[in-house]
Amino acid sequence: MRVVLLGPPGAGKGTQAVRLVGRYNIPHISTGDIFRKNLKEKTELGLKAKEYMDKGLLVPDALVVDIVKARLVEDDCAKGFLLDGFPRTVDQADALETELDKLGIKLDAVINIEVEDDILIGRLTGRLVCRKCGATYHATFNKPKVDAVCDLCGGEIYTRDDDKEETVKNRLLVYKDQTQPLIDYYTKKDMLKTINGETDTDTVFVKICKALE
Ligand code: ADP
Ligand code: ADP
Ligand code: ZN
Repeated sequence: MRVVLLGPPGAGKGTQAVRLVGRYNIPHISTGDIFRKNLKEKTELGLKAKEYMDKGLLVPDALVVDIVKARLVEDDCAKGFLLDGFPRTVDQADALETELDKLGIKLDAVINIEVEDDILIGRLTGRLVCRKCGATYHATFNKPKVDAVCDLCGGEIYTRDDDKEETVKNRLLVYKDQTQPLIDYYTKKDMLKTINGETDTDTVFVKICKALE
């Protein structure tokens, strides 16, 4: 199974990705997670990416594409993969297609999770993330059992720098300008499956699995 998860920030891509990789036994490739890991380790890539992430801007394609290309040729991707948050521009989508052609493989589907702006803002400004394992919670919709402590690993829970309201609004504008064109792009290729992401996480998951059957 080779799948792309598309959708605005806060649509639930990360939340659904964790479930999907468990169900289909494929690796989860999140470019956002890769940048945050690099930032934690203070690599050059991480520090460079932070300049853009903190402003709610996309990291330049040149910094993103090579990382994904390198990841896709790792052994565990031979059985499939789930791309979460990549591609985010038409140029990234073209680069992905060129790379997959080279490898002689094709995407099975692009899942587009749709959620309206007001709901996205509520989800993003309430999002909480574990510093240690990256698990995602929400201050209202999905609280950890013990305040500020990760259910899974006991790690400390924090609010991402880019989930502040001003940055969130900018990210939604950037999404509309640079990522939304991919909806047309993949519709024309007859690969797009659109899912309503405004219901509870279990219902969204069932709909995605049905779309992938
Ligand atoms: P994305 O990866 O698309 O940015 P996340 O999966 O991180 O989105 O979800 C954003 C926030 O919304 C998180 O706090 C998450 O717990 C919450 N969330 C995700 N899906 C739902 C849902 N269906 N209903 C309510 N809250 C959700
Ligand atoms: P969300 O799903 O909430 O939008 P991500 O964790 O996917 O957040 O991404 C966080 C940030 O990392 C983005 O706002 C952007 O700055 C950067 N980023 C992640 N993926 C890409 C990508 N494919 N292209 C450019 N920038 C990216
Ligand atoms: Zn954790």
